[in-house]
Amino acid sequence: MDEQAEAGVAEDFGLAGVVGQADAVFGEKRDGVEKSNRPDPDLTFPVFELILYTAKEKIIQDPQKGKGEVFMKKAICLLAALSLGMAVLAGAAMAWERGTHAFIADKLKKAGGPYNIDEMYGAMAPDVFNYLFTMPNVAFRDYLYDQTHHQFLKVKEAVKWGYEKSSAYGFLSHNNVWGADSTAHIASRTLLLNEGYVITKAKMLHDYLMMDPGYAALVGPYPGIGIEICHNVIEAAGDIILARNDASVGAKLMEIALRPKPHMQNLMVRAYAQGLADSSNSLGYPITLAQAEQLIRSEETNFRMSCISYGYLLQQSESVILENVIEQFKELAKSYLALYLPAVPDDAIIVGLLETSFPLAIGLIQNDYMKEIQATIAMVKRNMVKEVK
Ligand SMILES: [Zn+2]
Repeated sequence: MDEQAEAGVAEDFGLAGVVGQADAVFGEKRDGVEKSNRPDPDLTFPVFELILYTAKEKIIQDPQKGKGEVFMKKAICLLAALSLGMAVLAGAAMAWERGTHAFIADKLKKAGGPYNIDEMYGAMAPDVFNYLFTMPNVAFRDYLYDQTHHQFLKVKEAVKWGYEKSSAYGFLSHNNVWGADSTAHIASRTLLLNEGYVITKAKMLHDYLMMDPGYAALVGPYPGIGIEICHNVIEAAGDIILARNDASVGAKLMEIALRPKPHMQNLMVRAYAQGLADSSNSLGYPITLAQAEQLIRSEETNFRMSCISYGYLLQQSESVILENVIEQFKELAKSYLALYLPAVPDDAIIVGLLETSFPLAIGLIQNDYMKEIQATIAMVKRNMVKEVK
């Protein structure tokens, strides 16, 4: 089917004026989390860039790579794990992780056949810019996060061709106002109605961990730091539970990335490039429209490519996933703690605490994570009908 024919087949999105509603919900808080509890994200970037760079170099330069499926496997898993936790350094938590967003869109199934993959990827795409961690692009991260999570209707308005509708539909399902992110960070469907599922579980994990003398000694005087780390542990643990429940998600993430159709990229350029260029002056780094477009295209490509390693990791055994995630969190936790504590504890202590934290986090969410996700799917389905038409 050619583009015009597809455009004809596709039904038009109706208009839904929820932008004002987005502003009202957004207000002083972002994702329901006080910004003051979060680290100054800029301070952490060089460290994480170095970690990622080192991991990439290992893949390229390791002398054993000729032998090495095992090494390659480990390196790919490490990269995936690094990208899994990169939101920590970005200071913009993910709410639901990528696998969970893809799963939610898979169940929404507005689109069938090959378009279902576009819908799943569209649902992951609002988090593309959470990974901006080099200067000067980091200056644009919060702006783009706000745009993709609160000014999401711009993507609906950017649809030009019928074949872009599935991507846009997935994208709209993610938002932080009435979409999937809202149950993670603002209002759970199955726990507290005035607090996001991830927030509640992070506090519970922190309270449990405070019974561990090592944890209590480390972050007891700074509960905000402990809760922040727990927040990220819960989010990462969520995709581990998801992979238990749906073994196909990892393969689907890889399929998305291996299908190089830049529908979502084109939509985000149309929706956000002009605004980014216009706002860049006030953000401290003036860029042209062409540079704004380039930034969006390159970040989307990086994110899409990272889905290959992440999808690969999600298909491994739970112990392999955990091992890699803990390794990555060790580095993240060290850098994060270094910002706030007079002295960073030894690796062994941090690894020990993470080895305690992850099974606890998994224990805390394993019986109700999928219930919350199913309730989120039902809510998003209703809201998509109401708000998007
Ligand atoms: Zn998000």
